[in-house]
Amino acid sequence: MRTFWSRLKDDFQLSIITLVGVLAVLGVTPYAVYRLGERNWLVGLTDTFLVSSTLLVVIYAWRTGDTIRPGQFLAAIYSLGAFLVSIKLGTNGVFWMYVLVLFNFFVVPPLQSVIATQTTLAAVCLYGWFHPGQVFESDYQMGSFVMTYELASLFAFVFAFRGRAQRKQLSQLATEDPLTGIGNRRTMDRELDIALADSKRYDLSFGLLVLDLDHFKQINDQFGHAAGDEVLIRFVHLVEAACRPSDRLFRLGGEEFVLLVPKVTGEALHAVATKVQQCVREGLRRPDGKPVTVSIGGCLLEGHDGRDSWLHDADACLYAAKDAGRDCIVIADD
Ligand code: GH3
Ligand code: MG
Ligand code: MG
Repeated sequence: MRTFWSRLKDDFQLSIITLVGVLAVLGVTPYAVYRLGERNWLVGLTDTFLVSSTLLVVIYAWRTGDTIRPGQFLAAIYSLGAFLVSIKLGTNGVFWMYVLVLFNFFVVPPLQSVIATQTTLAAVCLYGWFHPGQVFESDYQMGSFVMTYELASLFAFVFAFRGRAQRKQLSQLATEDPLTGIGNRRTMDRELDIALADSKRYDLSFGLLVLDLDHFKQINDQFGHAAGDEVLIRFVHLVEAACRPSDRLFRLGGEEFVLLVPKVTGEALHAVATKVQQCVREGLRRPDGKPVTVSIGGCLLEGHDGRDSWLHDADACLYAAKDAGRDCIVIADD
């Protein structure tokens, strides 16, 4: 139950698709029953199709976690549904087109939504044009409908566009370190928990390295904070270039970083640390040209039952590396 609520809370698209599912069942089912009851087969079956395919799509989204294709599918069938209901019920059905506008902008990206809403509008108007009196009572009414529909679409587009950009920005702020662009502590906590779960479920091994730049404060003190920042950015580039794409680097804070290495033995973890240490020693320079070094502590996940104890042991190894004179590597069990 907790996963259910946390997924609803964390995944905006999934929550919208679920909301649509609930609303479709509650809102459209009575119409489907009513239309089928009065033997209006086209509208009745369209409503039934909308409700049942929405339910299937919601189930698919929950099972797979994929919300993009379900959103596109729903936008397509609801556009078709709004068209069919409009041409069949005339003015009474055309009101649903406004709901379609809002719905589309919620479930698919703004550009795809523009395509879906404008195509549906063109189809309804063309049909109305060639069948006078069937959809719109007059050309004036059709003109008013087009104007109000386009205005509603424009407002929805602006909201959806800004909303998406802000959600992306918020998610970046919450998960990324603004200076270096790598994952922050919160992201690291989540990835370490995933690693713990994967190691139990699939019997995978993981290694953790904690990296701390040596005498970093001196760089700030002698050359200023901006020079220190440059060194941190360059350090991240060097470490990322030195390891595999599957290795994940996070910034714990200050000049302290964590590298999560999947599928390793103790020996391989040591090899990764050595490669990083060498790349930093050879590639990282202070503004006066002197090399910057890094101390590294690390341990395997094996033997730890939680993220805190795993991090704690890797950190203890880092302290040992600092005590050993810096520019040093200490891996537990070495
Ligand atoms: P050690 O070899 O023992 O690790 O010494 P150190 O000087 O590297 O470590 P210390 O903890 O004494 O200093 C870390 C410094 O990092 C102090 C802090 O001002 C600086 N720092 C923390 N975050 C940032 C940042 O985002 N940018 C810059 N430029 N400096 C930072
Ligand atoms: Mg340091
Ligand atoms: Mg430090």
